[in-house]
Amino acid sequence: MKTIIAKADNENDIDVLNKAAEIIRSGGLVAFPTETVYGLGGDGLDPAAAKKIYAAKGRPSDNPLILHISHISQLRPLVREIPVSAEKLIKEFWPGPLTLIFKKADIVPYETTGGLDTVAVRFPENRIAQRFITLCGRPIAAPSANSSGRPSPTRASHVEFDLSGKIDMIIDGGHCEFGLESTIVDVSEDKPCLLRPGSVTVEMLEEVLGPIDIDKAVTAKPEAGERPKAPGMKYTHYSPAAKVIIVRGNEENMIKRINELISHTDKSLKTGVIASEETKDRYIADEVLVTGSRENTAQIASNLFKMLRKCDHHNIDVVFAEGLSENELGMAIMNRLKKAAGYEIYDV
Ligand code: AMP
Ligand code: MG
Repeated sequence: MKTIIAKADNENDIDVLNKAAEIIRSGGLVAFPTETVYGLGGDGLDPAAAKKIYAAKGRPSDNPLILHISHISQLRPLVREIPVSAEKLIKEFWPGPLTLIFKKADIVPYETTGGLDTVAVRFPENRIAQRFITLCGRPIAAPSANSSGRPSPTRASHVEFDLSGKIDMIIDGGHCEFGLESTIVDVSEDKPCLLRPGSVTVEMLEEVLGPIDIDKAVTAKPEAGERPKAPGMKYTHYSPAAKVIIVRGNEENMIKRINELISHTDKSLKTGVIASEETKDRYIADEVLVTGSRENTAQIASNLFKMLRKCDHHNIDVVFAEGLSENELGMAIMNRLKKAAGYEIYDV
């Protein structure tokens, strides 16, 4: 299949978006920009489209898809009930980078939910995404538009690299503002529970809801055979081909330990460091990749996946990543880094 790649500079690029919507309505797949990462969209109520999504990504079919809507009125038909906690979160954070898990209504096929009786729903803020979903006239099932296991795409070129020839169309809407996948909160049970950290932080959620539960898989490696509440959290993820090792602690100790580890690395291997603006000149690695200033975690989040992908393009074999403290946005960044590192962390 030849993948159409079309630029859309804003939500008024109506020819491109009409073409994309027509593809969705006839059962095809379209990658589109959102404020988190690029999504791989298909008709959210069509089991055949869900199957195509899993096949294109090489995604295990027990890893459910998020349904994207472009108006609040599209939520009610998808879910059994809207609990008070959900109403509060919706009022505060939708449209935006927050996905909510509800008990599913019968019209949502099990192919979309990976066999679960719950459904994940998000109302994205990105205007191109909103206009595209509206033109499709139905909820759009969309996981991240990467090959399963690879870092999520934050540029159309990342999608093209992973999925060209496997999907019908890519809408190129530039880079994604937040750069990390949405926060996921399960509101289907009595106490809201964070399943995946993202740009809507625990601190922001608790300001609205009071104390919430945090699924173990958010910060720690799932035990063998354990099933995290968000099935996707059990898979290795975000991995470049390079081996990723996190070093975390006081800045000077971190720099010293990373340089020691580099000097002990086999000379035939190409080394890299994922560093900050403040520390970038301190390393003896073959290559230093800068995500942003340590004062600006939003910038680090927005560049993280791009840098993980860069490791591959630059044939880096081992990459050391500076750890961050796990509060606010640091929790989401460290969650992705830990998964990329297979939880290999040195505390210094
Ligand atoms: P992605 O869209 O690629 O970021 O992946 C979607 C994430 O949402 C995965 O981690 C899924 O496991 C999670 N997810 C989707 N639907 C549900 C659900 N019904 N219950 C729990 N987690 C879900
Ligand atoms: Mg994904």
